[in-house]
Amino acid sequence: MLTTAQLRAAWGPACRPSSTRVTIALHGAGRITVDRRCEPAFRALNACLVAHDYRTRRADTGAYNCRRITGGTGYSLHAYGIAADINWSTNPYGRRLVTDMPAAMIAAIKAIRTRNGVRVFGWGGDYRTNKDAMHFEVVCHPSDLATGIDLATIPGHPTTTPPTTGGFLMALTDAEQRELLAKVRSTDLRVQELDQQLTDGADRNKAGISKRILDALARLEARR
Ligand SMILES: [Zn+2]
Repeated sequence: MLTTAQLRAAWGPACRPSSTRVTIALHGAGRITVDRRCEPAFRALNACLVAHDYRTRRADTGAYNCRRITGGTGYSLHAYGIAADINWSTNPYGRRLVTDMPAAMIAAIKAIRTRNGVRVFGWGGDYRTNKDAMHFEVVCHPSDLATGIDLATIPGHPTTTPPTTGGFLMALTDAEQRELLAKVRSTDLRVQELDQQLTDGADRNKAGISKRILDALARLEARR
């Protein structure tokens, strides 16, 4: 995890033009505006909210804000678009930790990793002094985040949950599904997309399945 000073240097300058930011809808009614480079990170965070059905509110959720830290001189990480505050009325800043967020959800958010294995988020509830339970901040370098999010660390992501209805994958044995999913993970492809490709003109005998999986994977690898 980078320090706040390191994060400012790596993601700055603060208060950049609005074209550098994107607004993301969170589970519930909340909306956050963040640095575009952080979009995959906050989408992964949102997957944790969805997995725990933790609903955000529009009125007390936000991210980008061009302001200096309270009682200090440096810019807040919110001014860099790399921090978000979620449901602040029930997760207030203060001396004691007060939160309505499930511990397992916090743990899932903290477990998100980049593809090169670096932790993505820090949580204000872990601050040594005053607690800031509403607050999540990106704690990795932009170059780490640029490697992508490790999809296996996102709850409920298609590549971590074999589909159970419809499509070509239903015709595969468990062993074949496991082999296919391992390959899909290594090609950064969504299962539904591959499933669709394989279903087109499908021949459902087992020998044909293996041939088409190999053909599809070869096409995907050529595309990368
Ligand atoms: Zn904050």
